[in-house]
This record gives sequence, C-alpha cells and structure tokens, in this order.
Amino acid sequence: MIRPGHVFHRKPSGLLPSAQSAEGVTILDNYGRRYLDASGGAVVVNLGHARPEIARAVMEQLSQGYYFHPTMFTTQVVEDLATSLAAHAPLGISRFYFMTTGSEAVETAIKLARQIQLARGEESRHRLISRWRSYHGLSLGALAATGRTSFRTPFAPMFKDSIHIPPPYCLRCSYGLEPESCGLRCAEALEEEILNLGPETVSAFLGETVSGATLAVYPPPKGYWPKIREICDRYGVLLILDEVMSGMGRTGKWFASEHYGISPDLVTLGKGLSGGALPLSAVGVQEEHYSLVVETGGFVHGGTFSHHPACAAAGLAAVKILENEDLVQRARDKGEILGAKLEHALSDHPHVGDIRGLGMMWGVELVKEKETLKPFDRSALVLEMVWEKLFSDGVILYKSLGLAGKDGEGLVVAPPFVINEPEMDMLVSALKG
Ligand code: PMP
Repeated sequence: MIRPGHVFHRKPSGLLPSAQSAEGVTILDNYGRRYLDASGGAVVVNLGHARPEIARAVMEQLSQGYYFHPTMFTTQVVEDLATSLAAHAPLGISRFYFMTTGSEAVETAIKLARQIQLARGEESRHRLISRWRSYHGLSLGALAATGRTSFRTPFAPMFKDSIHIPPPYCLRCSYGLEPESCGLRCAEALEEEILNLGPETVSAFLGETVSGATLAVYPPPKGYWPKIREICDRYGVLLILDEVMSGMGRTGKWFASEHYGISPDLVTLGKGLSGGALPLSAVGVQEEHYSLVVETGGFVHGGTFSHHPACAAAGLAAVKILENEDLVQRARDKGEILGAKLEHALSDHPHVGDIRGLGMMWGVELVKEKETLKPFDRSALVLEMVWEKLFSDGVILYKSLGLAGKDGEGLVVAPPFVINEPEMDMLVSALKG
C-alpha cells in the first residue's frame, strides 16, 4: 500500500493504483497487477517503457550539468536534437524551439505565427482559426484553439476571438454529405471563414494532422490537407500542423503530413518526442520564417525550461532508437497488422460503429446502434464502463469522449511500436470481450 499524500489528483487518490515499474508494453502496480499498456499512457510511450538507452543518455547529460539558461548558453545535445529532427521533418522545416508540454508548443506556434505576420508587415493579422472537436491542450491559449466544448464551457467568456470550423469527420459529416461527392466541404469552410473575417485579419489555421484525443483518431481524407494548404497560400494565412500526437513515427511516417504530401509553415511536437521519458515538446519552423522573425528583433517569447539539455538528451536518444531500429517503418508494418486484427475481431460487433487509423494510431468508435451510428447517451457513461472493465482486466487504452450523445465516442488504440503479435492478440481479445 502507498500512503496518500497531498497531491491534487483529478479524482480521489484512493481510486488510483500506484505504478511501481514498467518495461516494454507492461506496467506493474503496487498490488502486483500487470497491465498491457496499449495506448502508451496518453499516446506518449512510443518506444516502450523504461528504455535503458534513454535513461543512460539522460543520466550522462545530468552528470555533465543539468541547467544552463537558454538565453546564456546553447548545448551540443540541443543542437544535435534540432539537426536530427530537421533531417526527418517536412520540407523546409529546419529550426526547432524546445519546451516541455504540447500545450506550450501550441501556444508558442500561435505566437510565432503572429510574429511572422508582423515581420511581414501584416499587422492586422491576429486571428487564429482552428476546428471543433479538436484537441490542442488545456492551458488558456491552447484551450482557446481546442474545439471540445466541455473543456471550453467554464472558460468560454475568456475566448472572445477564437474561431472554429467543422472537422474532417466523414462518419458524421457536419454538412450531412457523403465523402465521394462532398467536394471537401469542410476544407472549403476555411475559405468561407477567412473571407468572412477578412483575410487581412487572419494569422494562421491550426489543426491536428490526424485528429487524436477528441475524435477517437480520425485521419482526414487524402485531399483535405492539400486543399487546406492551397487555401492558406491563397490568402497569406500560415498553416500550423499540430503533430503532438501524430508526429515522431506514430502514424508510420516521421510526420503525419507526409501522408498528405504537404508541408506546414509551423509544426508542433510533444508526447513521444522524448519517448515519454521527460517532458519535451517543440515547434518547428521554416528557415525563411525563422530568419524573418530573428532578423526583425528576435522572438518575443521564452521559458525557464526551454531547450533543457536533459530533456533534449532523452529526445536525441529517442530519435536514435527510431533510426537504429527502423521503428517508423515497423510502426507502419505493425500498424497494418494491428488494424487488420481490430477489423477482423470487431467489425461485426453490434456496438462498434467504425474502426479507423494510420500506422500505430487507431480508433474504435462505440455506438448504441450500429445501423444508424446512433451514439450512446453520454449520461450512460458507457465508454467509461468499457474503459474501467478493460483497465481492471489489465488492458490500458485511451478514452475519447463524445459530446452529449450527439457525437461518437471511442477508444484510442495506440500501443508502443515494439508491441509483438501475441500482445496485439491479447489486446484485441480483451476489447472483443
Ligand atoms: N496537441 C495535441 C494534438 C494533443 O493530443 C495534446 C495532448 N493530448 C496536446 C496538444 C497537449 O499536450 P500536453 O497535454 O502535453 O499539454
């Protein structure tokens, strides 16, 4: 047993087991129970738990010195991490600013976009457009962009100028259209909104390349991002792709934007960037934008723990593991196997409405009625019950809640890339049960 302390948990701490140790895809708790971590926590532990290479790299860096103020010093490890990321990043993304959380990366990207616009002499461009049912974090600036209403409602009066358009979610199209004939109406909504607000007021558009936490994983149709890129270019609006969840190999490519053949102006990373070992996030920008902002007075931003060398050491070790073990390709190959297993086991289930995903990022949408895709009533807490049952059976997934019975809700299946086939079978049969 552990002694309860003074930690401010989101639910009473007596309800939480205490994690004792972890390795690979397995977590052990204080009661000696084993869990198959099939979502890497919150889609964080991409490379498996407790990788000794990462622990060693962090210890080495810590023993050489753990804090140097980022405006006074750079460190080799931070430089090396940025260089390694640039080698895998979408075309033109070549400079990286490091922070700790995904929310911080998103806020930094929003501020950078504004500063790029200012440096271009576009002073009136201050607005950000994002999407409903998106997740970009819960700190105030990131929450203004996040499009899940239940997170926003208590704070809504604080977000006067945040603008959202419908997400690409063909299963429940906001326009009631069919994917074959919709003409990508949800992408056209961006153009409409830009024209409505006045292009001269819009700084950037922000979206998760592949929707994750609040849409139970939804890869947009192939043409969506190229169309969005075209619209942004037409109106001088910057494109920020949030790859906090979908980046670093999770979808079977280093960056999910590769699936769509486009390059953003800014990209955010987090979660799996350090393999989950230490808090580490980043914003990547195009070289021309970096020069523009830095030459016209420097980036008005900062943070005590930005460019932290121990976190960067974890990030660099994680990149090396991805490279040395060919794990991005393996995430692509294993992801296909995982997807096929999920389909085979669950597609006939009366309460599974949809199974979709890319690489090692899958979503299983739960519905009350399969034929009509009618969702469960939120108050029935079905998703919570399914999740609790899986957790007590020793299988950990990630919940993506629907909205008051109107939208779908589902489970995110996103295990560490090192999961093997028997472990996948265990996970799938627990889900089926
Ligand atoms: N962006 C995306 C796409 C995310 O999935 C998340 C976390 N779920 C965030 C931003 C926020 O990251 P953090 O919780 O580290 O602030």
